[in-house]
Amino acid sequence: MGRRRRKRMRRQVRTVPQVYKRYFTCPRCGSLTLSITLTQAKDEEGNVKAGVKRAVAVCGNCGLRCEMEVPEGLEKVDVYNLVSDAYFEGRGCGEVGGEEEEASGEAPGEEV
Ligand SMILES: [Zn+2]
Repeated sequence: MGRRRRKRMRRQVRTVPQVYKRYFTCPRCGSLTLSITLTQAKDEEGNVKAGVKRAVAVCGNCGLRCEMEVPEGLEKVDVYNLVSDAYFEGRGCGEVGGEEEEASGEAPGEEV
């Protein structure tokens, strides 16, 4: 009996969440330490806003923090462009720790 061994084609396809963070050049200090996180945007009542993401850019070097809502589906690069625009126009950017952090019990954001 020629029993054929079935080749186990079980490839370990691990769905590793992208831990890798991409850093961008900080518009303020110029270091490549600006990280951008996209999270679900919510309105004041906590309802998820459709088609909108909340982008938070934080510089690990100088502490710049920009926060804004961006259209869903944007690449981080596009978000970065919006962030740097916002910074230069003085919108939505501040210091880390300057304001009270809102308690976020939500998922820590999707890496896109
Ligand atoms: Zn910086």
